[in-house]
Amino acid sequence: MRTTRGWVSHGTTELRRAELRRRELRADDVAVRIDYCGVCHSDLHAVHAHDPDSSVPLVPGHEFTGTVTEVGRDVRNLAVGDAVAVGNIVDACLACDMCRAGQENFCRAFPTLTYGGVDRRDGTPTSGAFAREYVVREGFAYRLPRGLDPAAAAPLMCAGVTVWEPLRALGVGPGTRIAVIGLGGLGHLAVKLAVALGAETTVVSRSADKADDARRLGAQHLIVSTDEAAMTGARGQFDVVLDTIAVAHDLAPYLALLALDGELSLLGYLGQVSVETTDLLIGRKKLSSGGSGGRTRTAELLEFCAERGVVADIELLPSSRAGESLERLARGDVRYRFVLDMSDLDAGPAPVVPVRG
Ligand SMILES: [Zn+2]
Ligand SMILES: [Zn+2]
Repeated sequence: MRTTRGWVSHGTTELRRAELRRRELRADDVAVRIDYCGVCHSDLHAVHAHDPDSSVPLVPGHEFTGTVTEVGRDVRNLAVGDAVAVGNIVDACLACDMCRAGQENFCRAFPTLTYGGVDRRDGTPTSGAFAREYVVREGFAYRLPRGLDPAAAAPLMCAGVTVWEPLRALGVGPGTRIAVIGLGGLGHLAVKLAVALGAETTVVSRSADKADDARRLGAQHLIVSTDEAAMTGARGQFDVVLDTIAVAHDLAPYLALLALDGELSLLGYLGQVSVETTDLLIGRKKLSSGGSGGRTRTAELLEFCAERGVVADIELLPSSRAGESLERLARGDVRYRFVLDMSDLDAGPAPVVPVRG
């Protein structure tokens, strides 16, 4: 076992600095010094759901960039010193139909999650990237293209690929009229990517004060969702609606925005929703969802972002302020993604209490 320093959840948003264990490198592993890790809504859900008395510590964090510091003996595609990015999936069976289709995120045997999962080879719990080091199977560490700012690129690995997959699956490009519902971590990247793909892009937001931001991100139009006349006027105007709202909400007003054969992709909310089927029937509309990304699309996203200069709008904080970032994320007080700088974990004495994980 090797050790590193990181941040362990101690009930809701309190995080404590601790010594963490990482596995010794297997033949196909690389060790990554984590430089930057984004703060995702999933982290917030995880810390709220975690029992602080659990014997399995929770270390959040699943969208990070860093530098390879060591490679296993069979590693061929990465070398010490390479800049890499890792997302919320660190392994999969690689044999099922989903994996063979490049959709390891939908692996039939369930992908291994970066934290809160179980390593598929040794059965140990995985712990996340609010830490200085991560050990990962080579095939799930992506080369970070030159020219991408490593801090602002970190959110591409969860928020980014979560919106990129449906954008690509739905063929969004020149001529597509797309509405992005919700301008948060996912939404702002969806806008930037849709614009970069050449689509006519509209932001639908509760607040008119996001109008300037919407324009700055490249959107051509903004609709304020509480403006009934504007919502009525926009009915039937969109080929694709990407819904990134992170809480339960009525889908009917957003399905109404779709044109004939249009599709609403629900990305921000994972719970149960109820839909009036006539809202789909009239116009032969489609309702779909997605989450995270397979390896093919993830690598493609990084290349596309490097070519087009797309990264997240971030607020960079030292990792010691991770708890504050979670609190502010819960209040929606971020434009548009927190990223933690892990270098402060190098300073100070080693934590006294070792934590398994
Ligand atoms: Zn995430
Ligand atoms: Zn699989």
